[in-house]
Amino acid sequence: MPEPQDGPVIHSGDIVFDCPHCGKSLAIDPRGVGLMIACPDCGREVQVPAGAGRGEAASATPEERAEQVRSLAEAVARAQEKIERLVANLEEVRERRSYLEKLRTENLARFERIGQEMVTIQNAMDRIVSILQEASTEKGPDVPVGSL
Ligand SMILES: [Zn+2]
Repeated sequence: MPEPQDGPVIHSGDIVFDCPHCGKSLAIDPRGVGLMIACPDCGREVQVPAGAGRGEAASATPEERAEQVRSLAEAVARAQEKIERLVANLEEVRERRSYLEKLRTENLARFERIGQEMVTIQNAMDRIVSILQEASTEKGPDVPVGSL
């Protein structure tokens, strides 16, 4: 089993990849593709991926660099579009939310008015009850009850 290279030196053409266990950036001779190596950082076994990020850090040609920058720029533009769509959606959600908030406030005001009317009704009921009680008190229990 080949040993990982000593030190951080990355040679042109080396395969550069991250350890799937600890994320440590590893560089290995391309002849190591498919081999299991021990990660120098966490010591766990890692399979060297085929051509992943080949020599990215050290050996990219200016053309490759330009291509990387172009695809990065495209990715950024796509992300920007996505963000704009999300912002637009957020705006809709905010509008909807403030509409619902307004509805809620209106309903609260309505409930409050209804509550006040209920108090009025309750007071009227109380008055009616006391009038009825007065009436029955005036009649009193002395009112002769029809006897058989
Ligand atoms: Zn590791």
